[in-house]
Amino acid sequence: MTVGIVGAGQLGRMMALAGIPLGEHILFLDRDDHSPGAQVAPSLLGDIDDPALLATLAERCEIVTFDVENLPREAAARVAATTLLLPPLDALATAQDRLLEKTLFNALGIETVAWRAVESLEQLLAAAEALGLPAVLKTRRLGYDGRGQRFIRQRDELRGAWEALGRGAMILEAFAPFDEEVSLIGVRNRRGERRHYPLTRNVHWQGILDYSLAPVERPALQREAERCLDRLLEHFDYAGVLTVEFFVVDGRLLANEMAPRVHNSGHWTLEGAVTSQFENHLRGILDLPLGDTSARGYAAMVNFLGRLPERAAVLAIEGCHFHDYGKHPRPRRKIGHATVVCAERAALPARLERLRALAERED
Ligand code: AMP
Repeated sequence: MTVGIVGAGQLGRMMALAGIPLGEHILFLDRDDHSPGAQVAPSLLGDIDDPALLATLAERCEIVTFDVENLPREAAARVAATTLLLPPLDALATAQDRLLEKTLFNALGIETVAWRAVESLEQLLAAAEALGLPAVLKTRRLGYDGRGQRFIRQRDELRGAWEALGRGAMILEAFAPFDEEVSLIGVRNRRGERRHYPLTRNVHWQGILDYSLAPVERPALQREAERCLDRLLEHFDYAGVLTVEFFVVDGRLLANEMAPRVHNSGHWTLEGAVTSQFENHLRGILDLPLGDTSARGYAAMVNFLGRLPERAAVLAIEGCHFHDYGKHPRPRRKIGHATVVCAERAALPARLERLRALAERED
């Protein structure tokens, strides 16, 4: 079998590396001939929405999946018309648009912050009046890693934010005074078997994931998060890995967004869980039995943004694993990560601090 992956970033690369022992052939589509994925498996070279290349990919692969969320709906639909595209097109299209996403969450009884769709400055002013400030203004589409959004503390910042974000279709969200942020990664195979990883706690730096800790051992939150995720998995008749990010506010979960793919907050599962999210994604889309999602101990994952620390210094930390994505360093760019796994929870904080010191944030 050949699995096609649209986008050959680090997520695709880690999927490919998980697919090889399963006996899968991998074929990427990406414009970069030295992408993280192209370094480990063959790649068609060109734009991810190039119709001819998508047709070739669909022809050569029994199943096509993606490591990018910005694959245009029409391009994805073209693939889905001739081969199996998983996760399903509807999940991809919903995750690309914050209005569709929040509308679906609420329709499925998944709680979110209060929000309003806005398409003009007048609507924005009215929405700010209704929701109160502070609030967060976000473009409906193409926002990630803190891009496409502005925090608004005072009314006189509304016009500037509206202009800075391009005066398009947006949503205004009430600010969530969260105690922490967590994510849940779940997986479903084509015949409907489901598994969930333990909740992961995520800490951001300038809108980008800084580090993650797992497992979060809070059974009530875990149950609630699984309930939300299961509704989405069944709604889409989903196959593969699905991630939902939540705010924890006064012990309650408010869903922020979903990603129809493996997720940065699940990188710890490579060494910290019995079966990694990458392997389980493939098992899900290939309709194989799903693997055990239990944690093997206590894990922390730290992203390397813009520069890689010295490998030997990272590996000198007991229980640490180093991942270099083979990317050119650029400020704030995710170019690698490390995971530290400990048998005892008490051993984790000191090792995480050493790792974070090596990962140095610019400020
Ligand atoms: P997002 O692109 O929606 O994942 O947002 C990136 C990060 O911005 C989140 O992980 C939060 O740290 C923060 N953020 C986004 N929306 C809100 C909100 N409504 N209230 C508080 N913080 C937010």
